[in-house]
Amino acid sequence: RQELLRAMVGQEDVTLDGKHVKLYCNIGSPEDVDAVLANDGQGIGLFRSEFLYLAASDYPDEEAQFQAYKAAASAMNGKRVIIRTLDIGADKQVDYFNLSKEENPAMGLRAIRICLNRPEVFRTQLRALYRASAYGKVAIMFPMITSVWEVKECRRACQKVMEELTDEGIPFNRDTELGIMIETPAAVFMAPELAQLVDFFSVGTNDLTQYVLACDRQCNDLGKFYDPHHPAVLRALKLAADAAHAAGIWIGICGELGADLRLLPTFLAMGIDELSVSPTAVLPLRAAIRQSIAAQGTLELLEG
Ligand code: PEP
Ligand code: MG
Repeated sequence: RQELLRAMVGQEDVTLDGKHVKLYCNIGSPEDVDAVLANDGQGIGLFRSEFLYLAASDYPDEEAQFQAYKAAASAMNGKRVIIRTLDIGADKQVDYFNLSKEENPAMGLRAIRICLNRPEVFRTQLRALYRASAYGKVAIMFPMITSVWEVKECRRACQKVMEELTDEGIPFNRDTELGIMIETPAAVFMAPELAQLVDFFSVGTNDLTQYVLACDRQCNDLGKFYDPHHPAVLRALKLAADAAHAAGIWIGICGELGADLRLLPTFLAMGIDELSVSPTAVLPLRAAIRQSIAAQGTLELLEG
């Protein structure tokens, strides 16, 4: 079996009938890039930037962030590296942010909400990201989006940072792609409008499942009630995919569900363009994709 998987290294991520599905990886620090390269991941679909903040006792400065993003971007050597902006709050608490204690942290001040409330924290990260964009194919992704105005504000913050860097004569890639995570029901319903504002969608099925089913992802007692295969979750995924494709942008999945081989025919039927998974899941998925026929994909799991 190991040998069969090794034979997948260097092979294209394409079905028997020619549908390409990009296989990217999720990472949590620049050191994880070695595993991405060893498993022949074709890019990084989710670089969780929280590690920098969780490991520190105070706000990480621009330089520390820049070095980390640049390390990942240059090691990937021109392959796409999607870096997600800060996603703390909820299950990830950081003391120096002094966030108030909340009864429902998953629905509280987290992720993009913190960044939009604290423009200086956001600006520092965006500056580091744009500076890193001069050293590889960096893309920026915003988590926990629910509204059109949030994305517009994110875009304005990016625009401002680009103007600053231009004035300072610091190199960056002006065409850095911007994307959003689809992980709230609101983002699914607003997907047609949101798709007009970004270059790509990436579905966070861990949170999407939590919010669609009103099931706390942290609660172990929920058992079968927390079901990412629930037709409601899969229908949400399809709505987002249809909206993305109607607007001419691509859509990927970066939640755990992306590596679920039982759902591959469903993803193929929806035309999902990218799956971002843990590095060890790349070669098994590639083997499965190469044996699949996209035209035989099925939406039967969406039936109630
Ligand atoms: C998700 O919600 O599916 C996701 C990929 O993000 P995280 O697990 O970091 O919340
Ligand atoms: Mg999430």
